This record gives sequence, C-alpha cells and structure tokens, in this order.
Amino acid sequence: MEKKPFTKLTHLLDFLEFSLENRGLIWDRPRFPLLVPQRMAMKMEKNNPECPIFLQFVPLIKEKETIEGFSCEPVQDPIFRLAPKILQKYEGRSLLLTTKACAMHCRYCFRQNFSYETETIGFSKELDLIRNNPRLHEVILSGGDPLSLKNTSLIPLLKELEEIKHIQYIRFHTRTLISNPERLDDELYNCLSLLQKKVVFVVHVNHPRELDEDLKICFTQLKKIGVELLSQTVLLKGVNDNIAILEKLCFSLFNHGVLPYYLHQLDKVKGAAHFEVPVELGLELIEELRGRLPGYLVPRYVQEIPQRRSKTPVESAFKESLHPLKSF
Ligand code: SF4
Repeated sequence: MEKKPFTKLTHLLDFLEFSLENRGLIWDRPRFPLLVPQRMAMKMEKNNPECPIFLQFVPLIKEKETIEGFSCEPVQDPIFRLAPKILQKYEGRSLLLTTKACAMHCRYCFRQNFSYETETIGFSKELDLIRNNPRLHEVILSGGDPLSLKNTSLIPLLKELEEIKHIQYIRFHTRTLISNPERLDDELYNCLSLLQKKVVFVVHVNHPRELDEDLKICFTQLKKIGVELLSQTVLLKGVNDNIAILEKLCFSLFNHGVLPYYLHQLDKVKGAAHFEVPVELGLELIEELRGRLPGYLVPRYVQEIPQRRSKTPVESAFKESLHPLKSF
C-alpha cells in the first residue's frame, strides 16, 4: 500500500470500492483540493458515502451550492494581522501562522480559502513583535498545521521562542498527529522534551474512530515529557451531531490522555453549509452531555463571531441573537 496521501479522487474511490451510483454524489473538481492521508482512508467504510470519516474529507456535490450567510472569509481574522504571519487577536497571546500546509484537507475548514501571507521565509518580523511585547505570555502555533513544518524550520522556531523570557507557554493547534502519529519523530520529541516552557497540544478530533492505539502511544509519549493535551472538535452534521458519538468521543479522548476542551459551532464557510448543525440542537446535545459526563469531560461549546477578540459561548451568542443588545 502506498504511503502517500490520496490526492486523486478516482484512486480514493477505487480504494473505497465505490459504486457508480455513489460516485455520482462526489464533486470531482472541488475548489479545495482533495488531500486524504492513507491512515484516514483506512478508517473509512467501503462504499459508504455517509461514513463519518469519509464525509470530513471527500468533496460532495453539495459543496457547489451557494447558501446565503456562507462566505469565503467567515471568521475575518485578517483584521487582527500585525505582520504577514502573526495575528494579535487575544489578550496576552499571539497566534503565529506557521504554514499554509496541512496533512489533510477537511471539507468544513474555514481556512479553505486561506489568503494569509505565509510564504515569506522565516519568522524574524513576527519574533521581533513577540520579543518586544512583554504583555504576551503565550504563543499559539497555528496555520494550516504547525506540524506540517519540517523540523529544520520548526525546531529553530521553538528554540527562538524558548529564549523569550516573558513567553511561558507554547501551544500547538494541530490535527497532523491524527493522520500521522509518526510526525512526532525522535528529533522533534527531543526538542520538545528540552523546552523549559510549558507546551500544550490542542489536537483536533471529530469522531471517536479517529483515535486508536498508535495515537495512545504518541499521546502517552507527549505526556511523559509534560505536554498538556487538550482537544477541539467541530460539531458536524452527519459526523458527530449525535449524543452517543459525542459521549463516546469525550470518554475516548480522556482514555487517550486528552481533555475535551472546545466543541466548535461550524464557521460559515462557503461550501460547508451541509455540515451545519442548528444551534438549538447543539445546545441540547451539550445539555445531554452534562447529564452523562463528569463536568471535567464536557467541552465548552463555542463559536467565532467575526471581529470579536475571543470565542463566544454559543449559549450567550444564542441569547444575544434573540435579544440583540441595544446601542445608545
Ligand atoms: S487547518 Fe485543520 S481543519 Fe483546516 S484543513 Fe487543516 S487540518 Fe483540517
């Protein structure tokens, strides 16, 4: 079996033994190109267009639909950009856009029309901004996916951050390990183990089937060197908009050493409307989770509101939408 990710739809659909009829549901020329790691393809059910792993990565014809309210830039993060690869969105934390690249292309991703400039070499401008702002205590490595960077870029960056006294925490937002736990190779592992800063990995997982023994080993290794592991999940129709799946996901994350952190309402990105779960249902699911799980395993249900500096709890956003604040 070739180790390379699937980038050609016909190869993937042949591998999944898709019938002609089911192939009719798939968009063969999507705007956001197909990129499916072998490991994720292996977790897809054969000839099942409703498989929750398949749905996350394979473009359906439904992506072509233009739906009011769904746009190319739903989050509007660029207004917080200080330099080509840095966003100053949150108090005390800077978000470094390390790379455009990801190990996989998720069909619901708000970055699928990504226009941030990340091609310039190195991070000197961004690191200067971080060095010169003593109010910062945390740097969030985002992207794309920071683990898409080669060690030759990532390790020097981590070493530079390690030298900045006022930075206490280095946070990775990553999905790469889910498809490629081997990315935590010896070189990166050694580097992480030597950092004096507190390191946090927020891993993006949407369905319990994405977790397995290989990941458990990988996460256990990270925990051994003091890395904190949190999760983020996007609430997706047909994937995890179901109490049994969400409950299983939260327990499974915990059994893999990861604490459920965020459950995100979908960002309204063009092409992803078929993934939207009504807020009312999301709130019901969270309420039901509260009844089934210990409090520490219930994720915070949040959403991005364009131009706001922090995530908003869905419950308050929902109340606001029913009773908009008056401006005097
Ligand atoms: S940024 Fe995350 S959600 Fe978006 S395509 Fe990359 S891995 Fe998927």
